Amino acid sequence: MSRLIVVSNRVPVPTAGEKAGGLAVVLHDLLARRGGLWFGWSGDIADNAEHDTAPAIVEEGGVQYATINLTPDEYQGYYANFSNATLWPLIHSLPEQISFDRHSLHVYRTVNARFATTLKDMIRPGDVVWIHDYHLVPLAAALRTRGVQVPIGFFLHTPFPSPDILSTIPEAATFLRQLMQADLVGFQTSHDAQNFVACVERLAGGETAGNNVVTCGGRTVHVGAFPVEIDAPGFARTAAEESDTTAIRRFSESLLGSTLMIGADRMDPTKGIRRRINGYRSFLDKHPEWQERVTFLQVAASSRQDVEIYKSLREELERLSGALNAELAMPAWTPLRFVTRPVARAHLAGIMRTARVGLVTPLRDGMNLVAKEYVAAQDGDDPGVLVLSRYAGAAAQLKDALLVNAFDGDEVADAIHRALSMAREERRRRWEANWHVISSRTPLMWGESFLDALLQARGSGAA
Ligand code: ADP
Repeated sequence: MSRLIVVSNRVPVPTAGEKAGGLAVVLHDLLARRGGLWFGWSGDIADNAEHDTAPAIVEEGGVQYATINLTPDEYQGYYANFSNATLWPLIHSLPEQISFDRHSLHVYRTVNARFATTLKDMIRPGDVVWIHDYHLVPLAAALRTRGVQVPIGFFLHTPFPSPDILSTIPEAATFLRQLMQADLVGFQTSHDAQNFVACVERLAGGETAGNNVVTCGGRTVHVGAFPVEIDAPGFARTAAEESDTTAIRRFSESLLGSTLMIGADRMDPTKGIRRRINGYRSFLDKHPEWQERVTFLQVAASSRQDVEIYKSLREELERLSGALNAELAMPAWTPLRFVTRPVARAHLAGIMRTARVGLVTPLRDGMNLVAKEYVAAQDGDDPGVLVLSRYAGAAAQLKDALLVNAFDGDEVADAIHRALSMAREERRRRWEANWHVISSRTPLMWGESFLDALLQARGSGAA
């Protein structure tokens, strides 16, 4: 079996007493099986970082973790500005939110080049390289320029935009050609893969060459959809165990008999939290009989506060949630609980289980794991209803959710009403269909299927 090299912006180096969560666990497992190396940024900022030639290496369970630091200027230009303030809104099709400056683009490229220079010396013949996410779009090309010939796969955890959107940034074609230096480019959904192919055709002069294959400038690249999965039975177990704790019982009592709806997101402009609160507001206006009988808990973890649009989003949501409560609350009823302090993962799972409605309404999302977690957390005998945006990648799989246009506040309001009023039989039928989808796949299957496809792509003559 080939040795695996995973590259991502941040490396979750295992430390004593601290367990990684989510996808990191799967990548650790894949690396441990094959023996391998995980390379990327340490998460630390150091003034003289660009002079460090050797990465810091930690070895744990047969896996090497190699990290480099960033300088303050690199952090700002590569991470805060270009990755999070330019690429993130771009790939989520929110062009109005994009800020762009040439200096940050330059720093983004410089950091990717530095990654490539450091990583190149650690790659051996027979290795397979798997690059993750939008921070590292130029990396495959930067490795090829430095003579790296081993198979390279690139997986984008976010959506991929249409040609009209992608072309709003300068040098869009360059980004496409850089991605084309990988052998396999993977996405969350086939819709994202189709957008990529359309971009290569329209903006970079490429052509499709059969199913899931695109050629451009002498390169042949495979594309595919590899939806990220959760450990559904594991999450279900956590939710069930947690719901039996004093903490969750006290929480339930605090609702004073009202029905619970839950939203849980990082506080991010793509998550549609503002429109969601407005949708809830119009639901309460249209259906006043639900006042005092429903509580909406929105857990919104503070995120990326060094990026301007995130700071102003936070202020706007604080105002909006305050205004809703100021207008509608009663001495014994708070219509909206807006929580920005961290909530422990297990506690959140327990809360999800007690919520009759899960409101997951991003304006655009690569997958949205909260949607899958909400389904996993339910008691199958008396499950809650998932209201899910059509613009989340998860909507391609969770077809039995109440699918809504997250931009249309009236539709969100109607879906809330329908979900709150839904008979148990229909709730069960919908939940069972969605549970079947998430419980028949595992995160490990996701990782293995990407790596299989990468080796096949290479075997069939790409590169
Ligand atoms: P993203 O990766 O864009 O943040 P996802 O929905 O795909 O969105 O994944 C978010 C993860 O973080 C999920 O596992 C979810 O349970 C967790 N999470 C989201 N919001 C919170 C919160 N407010 N508190 C604790 N965990 C959260």
